[in-house]
Amino acid sequence: MRTVLENAAIATVDAEGTEYRRGHVVIEGGRVLRVGEGRIDGEADRRIDCDGCLITPGLVNTHHHLYQWATRGLAADSTLFEWLVALYPVWGRLDAEITHSAASAGLARLALTGCTTVADHHYVFPADGGDPIEALVAAAHRIGVRAHLVRGSMDRGESAGGLPPDHLVEDTEAALLGTEAAIDAHHDPAPDARIRIAVGPCSPFSVSAALMTSSAELARRKGVRLHTHLAETRDEEAQCRAEFGCTPAEYADKLGWLADDVWLAHTVHLAPAAIRRLGATGTGAAHCPTSNGRLGSGIAPVRDLLDAGVPVGLGVDGAASNESGGLGEELHQALLQARQRGGPSSLTVRQALWMGTMGGARCLGRDAELGSVEPGKLADLAVWDLTGLAYAGIEDPVAALVLGAVPPLRLLLVGGETVVAGGALATADESTLSGELAAASRRLR
Ligand SMILES: [Zn+2]
Repeated sequence: MRTVLENAAIATVDAEGTEYRRGHVVIEGGRVLRVGEGRIDGEADRRIDCDGCLITPGLVNTHHHLYQWATRGLAADSTLFEWLVALYPVWGRLDAEITHSAASAGLARLALTGCTTVADHHYVFPADGGDPIEALVAAAHRIGVRAHLVRGSMDRGESAGGLPPDHLVEDTEAALLGTEAAIDAHHDPAPDARIRIAVGPCSPFSVSAALMTSSAELARRKGVRLHTHLAETRDEEAQCRAEFGCTPAEYADKLGWLADDVWLAHTVHLAPAAIRRLGATGTGAAHCPTSNGRLGSGIAPVRDLLDAGVPVGLGVDGAASNESGGLGEELHQALLQARQRGGPSSLTVRQALWMGTMGGARCLGRDAELGSVEPGKLADLAVWDLTGLAYAGIEDPVAALVLGAVPPLRLLLVGGETVVAGGALATADESTLSGELAAASRRLR
């Protein structure tokens, strides 16, 4: 099966930043065969005219909590800690069916905003709630996107000085066993994997040091990646200093958590030495600008992180702290926040696109097969339709994507397979997904 996309502007996001004004992409066997300027003759099973469109790599979401699609709009004006304390009891009623409905809807929304690979961090495992990881795997297959499912954990409830209520945390050993079982059941190391598993104790204020170090040992024994929340708020830093006598970044370093098989969510509050240390160790950062803004957490030092060589990707974070839940918007938000912090030269529109694609692929250890439009790479592509009122005539298509409203998708492909066509989801019925989501949200109230 050979597909040719033609007559499109193309931003390949390769190492040279190659772009074409009016080019083509040839896809075969789920991979990109050729990309270049002009038309291409020869046999094709399918030719798609992409006149007026911009083709980019599919966006990579590096941090999410899909179950939160069923708990949006709560604690709307709170800080992170206030918000968590309000939401923990609601999350305590989660089960696999609710997680499946929320994840299906959340993944559909991500696909409709250009996202082809999603890292989800699931850390709530109520005792009689079934298997949420299995529910997330099923939702990823249903919508047709790639998923990096982070089996999260919390073992430090209130009685142990943690933030979550005791009934919401697992025993340390049970968390490790559950994580190993998820890896054994679902992790696919193949280059074209649709599902991978990572290990993700939740945060310094909900996880013991023992679970952090044992999780790192487990992940390295199994050859999977590590993920956690770090340095998100000043409250977290104050608690870390009071308890451990160091910053969250120093704490993570002591526990073996700054390394090139780790990516960290947020990294908002980092001293210059910590930024250098992330760069020297190759530790990735999942920048979540909308969520940081919603919770008033601060503005991550993205320019400094990039200058230090840190692989920075973008994340929407859970929809309970980012009710929009779209990844296309994060390109825009990341650019605005970087410039508010460091002036107009602190991030270009193309650097924002790089973070949303190749930067994310690097965070997830997938830069050899994802993140750019190049021969041999997986055909995960977003074809943005710039023909409408909001974009027509604009000089630079990449500026249209990053600075303007998120364009509709003429097409979204994952491994060459159609997930979105003509601005609508092709793999599931949107109104069915919305109905399931509304029912799941009602059940949690
Ligand atoms: Zn998060």
